[in-house]
Amino acid sequence: MRTRINEMDFLATKGERVMKPESGGKSIPDYYGSNVFNLKTMRNYLSEKAYKSLSETIKNGGALDPNIADEVADAMKTWAVSKGATHYTHWFQPLTGLTAEKHDAFIQPDNEGGVIVEFSGSELTQGEPDASSFPSGGLRPTFEARGYTGWDPTSPAFIKEGTQGTATLCIPTYFIGWNGEALDKKTPLLRSMKAVAKQAERLANILDIKTKQMAYSTLGGEQEYFLIDRDFYNARIDLVQTGRTLFGKAPAKHQQMADHYFGAIKDRVMGFMEDLDREMWKLGTPLKTRHNEVAPGQFEVAPIFENQNLAVDHNMLCMEVMQKVAKRHGLACLLHEKPFANVNGSGKHTNWSITGPDGKNWLSPGDNPHENERFLIMLCAVIKAVDERAGMLLASITSAGNEHRLGSHEAPPAIISIYLGEQLTDIIEQIEKGSGAKSSKQGGTLEVGVDSLPKLPRHASDRNRTSPFAFTGAKFEFRAVGSNMNLAGPNIMLNVIVADALDEICTQLEKAKKSSKNIDKAVQKLLQDIIKKHKRIVYNGDNYTDEWVQEAKKRGLPNLKTVPEALKESITPEAIKVFERQNVLSKREVQSRYDVYMEGYETIVKYEAELSATIAKTTIIPVALAYQSGLAETIRSVEAVNKTQSTASRKLLKEVSKKTEEALSATDKLKAEIATGSVVKMKAGMKALRSIIDSLEEVVPAEQWPLPSYAEMLFLT
Ligand code: ADP
Ligand code: MG
Repeated sequence: MRTRINEMDFLATKGERVMKPESGGKSIPDYYGSNVFNLKTMRNYLSEKAYKSLSETIKNGGALDPNIADEVADAMKTWAVSKGATHYTHWFQPLTGLTAEKHDAFIQPDNEGGVIVEFSGSELTQGEPDASSFPSGGLRPTFEARGYTGWDPTSPAFIKEGTQGTATLCIPTYFIGWNGEALDKKTPLLRSMKAVAKQAERLANILDIKTKQMAYSTLGGEQEYFLIDRDFYNARIDLVQTGRTLFGKAPAKHQQMADHYFGAIKDRVMGFMEDLDREMWKLGTPLKTRHNEVAPGQFEVAPIFENQNLAVDHNMLCMEVMQKVAKRHGLACLLHEKPFANVNGSGKHTNWSITGPDGKNWLSPGDNPHENERFLIMLCAVIKAVDERAGMLLASITSAGNEHRLGSHEAPPAIISIYLGEQLTDIIEQIEKGSGAKSSKQGGTLEVGVDSLPKLPRHASDRNRTSPFAFTGAKFEFRAVGSNMNLAGPNIMLNVIVADALDEICTQLEKAKKSSKNIDKAVQKLLQDIIKKHKRIVYNGDNYTDEWVQEAKKRGLPNLKTVPEALKESITPEAIKVFERQNVLSKREVQSRYDVYMEGYETIVKYEAELSATIAKTTIIPVALAYQSGLAETIRSVEAVNKTQSTASRKLLKEVSKKTEEALSATDKLKAEIATGSVVKMKAGMKALRSIIDSLEEVVPAEQWPLPSYAEMLFLT
């Protein structure tokens, strides 16, 4: 029997585990980025010439000058060793969705039985980690399994502190096969950023915008998560193994009052947050916001946006550090999209924009007519891209975890639509009519021409929390992304579809520019056509309603709720053409990713089903059976003394018996369904079993229930 926890004892023991801050007293700039080989540090460790060359490569992309590789490697090593590093690793992001690392010590034997500490340019720039067990979807049969990691100088090397006072130098790398095929998430991300940059450059030329740098996509990812006490976590093998609870009835009170949202932060959680901020600041990640989320036990952390590639790496690191830091505080950090049924799941709001070659945010409405024209073209490019490629976007956010979250009236549905807000909607309606756009603030009808463009309001949108894809002031916020995902996936997709839409737009505008003088007229006509054709994707209403589901169906918008349906959208002939046209993924690469993700999905459903059956049969049902014999015994002796029938108690016994029998047969049924290998059947079987087990939890004494309850996990942390 599980003993109940006395809250005072509970808090006393947990309180002791909280670590004392090591950098207490220091101000943030004193240690911000101290574990990163950033430009500031490079300047101290590199010659003027090498520093200039490397910082140029970082800013503008392109290949690293091979002549400086040795010097950079040596500088990196000297810096890393001063931080206690004994090893280095190429740090990469295979298709598992996680990060990968294989450590090598800096040592080189000398001739006298000792070693010297060494790190060469070639070790920095390229590795061949073998790594043949990563999923490659057939791109890499094991007999020719050469895979290479290559240095990505645009994401700075960093130090991971160990537990023994030593450390590891981590070098962000991409991971490709011997013939250059992408085996990871970074390679296509970098390619897709290049695709966007190329189109932005073209548009800048068309609009006579002065350029000074390479354009790049920007990303700010708002990360939601749960924290629960580590002892509860360890007592739930479902959480440990699958990241979510396979059983558990919702407590009477959970999030109905929304009283957790933005609430005062408990000390223990605050300890975790402070520790996390400090660790991530040392890693040069600009964590900015922290708060309680809607569900009890749920929280959010958000950084200031960065260059997309860097932001993806930082989010991967953050997820890793969150789990480590939680452990130090006697907590477990749950990143799964739906750890608890019937309370809100977790997403990762993906704020996305483009910084143009002029160094300005191209999704910012701006102050002058030139900026407005650029903004309206970008806005229409996004509208066109999202409408034409909604299926591809859905494919990029589908997963076994996110499948539990989307469309269940707490998260955006599996229907992609765009929220523009009243003012922007008004403006696109004006453009559609061909009467030009009038600024809602200024009044008066204006042509969409450079001299007569409307002054757009800076905050052209209100908030709509139910939209999967909302314009929020100066960026789009893709809200359907799951909390546990590598942000590369959805960002690759956003880049590639917008690049493709811009490609088409630029081709038309270039033609118009060649043949006539009035580019503004051409812009106006083009935007009008785009809006006419694609306005069905704009929806400003409540996305959680059934009316919207019906309305979206009428509009012909896809509603792809399951992983197999959504993933298929990534391998349609049209999708493959987009990937190929923008040089982001080849047909083989697209197909291989599809295979990896489908197989991963089926694997997860299968082991979750197996674990459900095991927990039911070996952990929960035995307790229900034992309770029945205790209850029967009690009834017998009570009736003997009272000389009357305990009708209600007998009814309870019947109820427990009936439910236990049902649970046993549902377990057997699930086992039979697992044997068929059908994902749909396994999911149905799990659902049926869960429903009966959760109703058993209502009749078995809480003290005997073998798993920590939802109420304990969500409220007692
Ligand atoms: P909101 O109020 O819409 O949530 P915030 O200012 O809180 O907006 O920002 C949410 C996230 O969006 C933050 O990570 C922020 O840095 C990011 N963000 C802001 N501007 C941009 C941009 N131009 N590109 C990408 N992300 C951005
Ligand atoms: Mg937000």
